[in-house]
Amino acid sequence: MSTTPDAPERGKDFIRTIIERDNETGAYGGRVHTRFPPEPNGYLHIGHAKSICLNFGIALDYQGRCNLRFDDTNPVKEDVEYVESIKEDVRWLGFEWDANFYASDYFEKLYLIAELFIKMGKAYVDHQSAEEIRANRGTLKEPGTDSPYRGRTMEENLALFRAMRKGDLPDGACVLRARIDMASPNVVLRDPTLYRIKHASHHRTGDAWCIYPMYDFTHGLSDAIEGITHSICTLEFENNRPLYDWCVDTLMQGLGMPELFGENAAAYQELAALPGFKQRPRQYEFARLNLTGTVLSKRKLIQLVQEGYVSGWDDPRMPTICGLRRRGCTPAALRDFCDRIGVAKADSTVEHALLEHCIRQDLNDRAPRYLGVMDPVKLIIENYPEDGLDEFTMPLHPEDESMGTRVVPFARELWIERADFMEEAPKKYFRLAPGREVRLRFAYYVTCTGFTRGDDGRITEVRATFDPETRGGWSKDGRKIKGTLHWVSAAHALTAEVRNYGPLFTCDNPNAVAEGGSFTDHVNPDSLEVLTGCLVEPAMAHMAPGTNFQFERTGYYCADSRDHVPGQRLVFNRTATLRDTWAKIQQKTEG
Ligand code: ATP
Ligand code: MG
Repeated sequence: MSTTPDAPERGKDFIRTIIERDNETGAYGGRVHTRFPPEPNGYLHIGHAKSICLNFGIALDYQGRCNLRFDDTNPVKEDVEYVESIKEDVRWLGFEWDANFYASDYFEKLYLIAELFIKMGKAYVDHQSAEEIRANRGTLKEPGTDSPYRGRTMEENLALFRAMRKGDLPDGACVLRARIDMASPNVVLRDPTLYRIKHASHHRTGDAWCIYPMYDFTHGLSDAIEGITHSICTLEFENNRPLYDWCVDTLMQGLGMPELFGENAAAYQELAALPGFKQRPRQYEFARLNLTGTVLSKRKLIQLVQEGYVSGWDDPRMPTICGLRRRGCTPAALRDFCDRIGVAKADSTVEHALLEHCIRQDLNDRAPRYLGVMDPVKLIIENYPEDGLDEFTMPLHPEDESMGTRVVPFARELWIERADFMEEAPKKYFRLAPGREVRLRFAYYVTCTGFTRGDDGRITEVRATFDPETRGGWSKDGRKIKGTLHWVSAAHALTAEVRNYGPLFTCDNPNAVAEGGSFTDHVNPDSLEVLTGCLVEPAMAHMAPGTNFQFERTGYYCADSRDHVPGQRLVFNRTATLRDTWAKIQQKTEG
């Protein structure tokens, strides 16, 4: 994975330090095998990008492997739509998995493992209701209470579990629980649920199953089945690590008890031969990414979509990977961002401005430049011939000749920005005002001679004269010009729709809500500004959807991947603004 040239040298994070130590001691025979395990119940967000960069990046750094594993144990919330989007997003970020698995690939194995746990006396079927189980779990200070079903015989448990699988029991009738320790100081270990009954169709296994394994049981065992060495997850799973270990360790113990295998001996022997059950994978927790000004939880993101606050998962205001992509963020910028935020053990919140900084850094190097007027006002060059025409060949990038050039027509009637003219301008206003001279980018110097105001008080037209000696935008006599304006020829300009995005929330931490409130109370009603009358240079006519570019002096933009149709309808999303020094000076002078 590459970093942009100015990115600080990445220090080794604590996980890489552990991996290098393991490699030195030969803990996994030098193997490094990670996985990225999304649940296909939503689109990926920028927090997932951090996890992807970490897991795939480690595999690249240590010539290891990284699997993409869909953690699809909850059929009700999961969907193939999400599976496809996740694959697309991982690839777009620049990574390719060594293998693609689904937790559902292991349903048969997991079922047999659960049977073995029962035979070992390590699991039992509990008929308590969910509320009873919760109430009997105890508290941090008080131990839990044993379930009245905890002492069932192995035979009874096995028969009941098989009945669960057969579909003889309705949802919620009972669950399979691990028999660990109802007095454990770690509440997670107080006989956690391993299986629940759910008569629901699964997006991959259809109606083959009506019982589904729980996350904690599934995760560690799936890791071990795949031979994962370092299983990296976010901090909230720290308390679950002992359970992760318990599941794998208990199975390793059971695989050493062939007298329990019965008719499934072959399947158990197959498991026993896997490297993951010789050397247990280990879970490591890192701090999840939090970003100012947004929410990073699939549940909340789904709510924004479903309640219509945004146009969809890929709305350019969304912190989803597809939203960032549609907005114009590049994979390189996102990887650079993940590099810079690093990997730590303590929670923190990253400034949104850092993401924007990474985006600007990347686009500054690679985005071609174009001229586009957002809020146009006419500029008439009085001394330019009525039927005159100049065709200026302009570089697409000021510092990168290899990007080539485009031709920009210039004629007597132009469009310039309304904000680039002022009738009575302060000294530091380096744009057009009566009597003042400016440069029209790559064209000519022009001096303002007058203007017309409409009945409503708005300026309808600005007039100027040009100096033919300044062709190309520079003067032979060396006279200094402070302001350069962008422009387009009125006869040649194309109409475009420009969508400017502001923050989706009005505060830095929309997750913080008052009693009875919702994070949606913080949604910014003015986060989208649509400009339909923008006028842009003709070279943009056939720009492909998804193209990044810069409107000179205005910002970085991207041709919209949904609504932009080359040659027919131009729709541009603002990716990021440029720094506006005028606004700063204005603030200073006003303040
Ligand atoms: P969410 O809380 O947004 O629903 P999740 O953790 O339920 O996310 P998963 O699909 O289970 O989503 O996540 C896949 C992987 O991405 C997990 O390893 C998870 O730890 C990691 N991940 C999720 N959110 C973040 C985040 N904000 N920062 C870093 N890693 C994350
Ligand atoms: Mg999750």
